[in-house]
Amino acid sequence: EVGELPQTHNSIGIDVGVADLMITSDGVKHPTIRFDKILAKKKHYWEKRLARRRLQAQKEIAWDKHNKVLEPRELSDFKNYLKAKRMVAKYNEKIANQRNDYLHKLTKQLVEQYDVIKIEDLKAKNLLKNHKLARAIANQSWRELRSQLGYKCAWYGKQLVTVNPKKTSQICSNCGYDDGKHTLDIREWTCPNCGINHDRDINAARNILKTTA
Ligand SMILES: [Zn+2]
Repeated sequence: EVGELPQTHNSIGIDVGVADLMITSDGVKHPTIRFDKILAKKKHYWEKRLARRRLQAQKEIAWDKHNKVLEPRELSDFKNYLKAKRMVAKYNEKIANQRNDYLHKLTKQLVEQYDVIKIEDLKAKNLLKNHKLARAIANQSWRELRSQLGYKCAWYGKQLVTVNPKKTSQICSNCGYDDGKHTLDIREWTCPNCGINHDRDINAARNILKTTA
């Protein structure tokens, strides 16, 4: 049973990133938490065992076949191999659960505090091909964030707006001046027209808030 949440008459724009998962037009940065790194040691411990035990099992199976054993064993007959496999799966699940819990907390807060949530169309971001793990994790988190916001807005009577903003990192959200392209290494800049100092990402989030769909 989900009922509508009370209206707050507030709107927010959200920019998504790699180092910071979510940057809001209210000036809040929610960091990307690398849950995979937190559990990496324990997971790796079992991954090494899994690889070793699989290899060992495969050798024994080959011997069974070589010796023309009536019923040669299969991988699923090796209990220690199965245990290692289960443990790796357990840690993968743990990492995924922690990541989702974090996202659930963030998206719940958003629907509680805002009536209209504006988020950039992620297609443009996904186009930036990068095979690095951090990027892959960011992509996955953005998709999950977008999906949670979609159904939670529907559940709680809020509005999710996907905008296709242009030049969010180069237009001054204060006066609308176009400062030209800012390369990725420029994290902050001052608008030569109105003199305001911008954090790159917060300014982008403010432009997203201002963009009409
Ligand atoms: Zn300006």
